[in-house]
Amino acid sequence: MTDPIELLQKYIDEANHITFFGGAGVSTESGLPDYRSDTGAYTELEKQKLDPRRVMSKRYLVNSPEKFFNQSSKDKKRIKPEPNAAHFYLAQLENKPKDVRIITQNVDRLHQVAGSKLVVELHGNNRHFHCMECGREYKPKEIQKDEQNIPRCPIDNGIIRADVVLFGENIKPEVLQRAKELIASSDLLIIAGTSLTVHPAKNLIHYFKGKRVIVINKTPLKIDFPVDLVIKEAVGETFKQLSI
Ligand SMILES: [Zn+2]
Repeated sequence: MTDPIELLQKYIDEANHITFFGGAGVSTESGLPDYRSDTGAYTELEKQKLDPRRVMSKRYLVNSPEKFFNQSSKDKKRIKPEPNAAHFYLAQLENKPKDVRIITQNVDRLHQVAGSKLVVELHGNNRHFHCMECGREYKPKEIQKDEQNIPRCPIDNGIIRADVVLFGENIKPEVLQRAKELIASSDLLIIAGTSLTVHPAKNLIHYFKGKRVIVINKTPLKIDFPVDLVIKEAVGETFKQLSI
């Protein structure tokens, strides 16, 4: 039997339009715990007897901003995540040259930091901010907080929030559309570090009409369409073994 890494290398080498569909498992090796894992934000909130679907929702942000912002700042570990081997490999693959598209459920911008150019962020990102009143955009450095630790717009005192999709919010239709187009026009689809249980990830991959599908995930996935290769390893570790 052929070695799975050799097979992965072969499939990547043979492909021209590669779509990498990634989830939380892509960033765990960058020091960001999967939010549903034991040390993740979701579990941390549950330990504090808080319902993540409530306290990570837009409604909570609007109605209890002092709790929302003090809650999320408590969760944040003081680490500066860096891209790992998977992020760097995908970015370098563009120089091959190959048409590489990233669709990510992560909000950490690590693909862009590594150098990837075409990145569709399904859930937005936590590096860009805007005022909920006037829409003015803010960089992290520019944000001022009031005495309750709530980030406020100096112009209208509106709340400044990250451009992430919270519970109770929908993915922007144009983002979803772009993801569908990219999946539909690729000849290789790599699904990595995601359990594919969260909507719309599950449905999106059904737009694939290309040649091969690869799954890289530590735990087995339930997928109702044919997969050509399954690698049950950490995503970064897997890409570390490939050559450009
Ligand atoms: Zn404003």
